[in-house]
Amino acid sequence: MTNIYLDIDGVLLDDGKPAKHVDDFLSYVLEEYPETTYWLTTRCNGDASEVLRQIQPLFTQDTQKLLEMIKPTSWPMVKTQAIDFSQAFLWYDDQLGWADEKALKDHDAMDSLRRIDLESNPDQLNVEFEVLKQRNLE
Ligand SMILES: [Mg+2]
Repeated sequence: MTNIYLDIDGVLLDDGKPAKHVDDFLSYVLEEYPETTYWLTTRCNGDASEVLRQIQPLFTQDTQKLLEMIKPTSWPMVKTQAIDFSQAFLWYDDQLGWADEKALKDHDAMDSLRRIDLESNPDQLNVEFEVLKQRNLE
């Protein structure tokens, strides 16, 4: 089992608009991990309905349905408090706080972080889509 953790701003949204390839990326993620895909964003702390209210209207109808499948997380202080380190996971985020970086290092899990930088590569979600597909073929 692999848990997927998704940030929103700078990952699914680029400057407030849907990132390039986000529809393909999300449709693959939620086809492969329908039960284990989670929000990990400052926009969601324990309740997914507010996230949906904020971002759902920005996306196509098909993707809107996919967004509803993503489960909420809660984290009192830092995002890594929501991560289940006993399971394999992939975390898509564009920024990492020092406490989160330390937590990843302490759990020897830096490889599970997929750092997104849409400014350098606006097509990165397509790369991530391919990386994930490849990972699942292995
Ligand atoms: Mg972000």
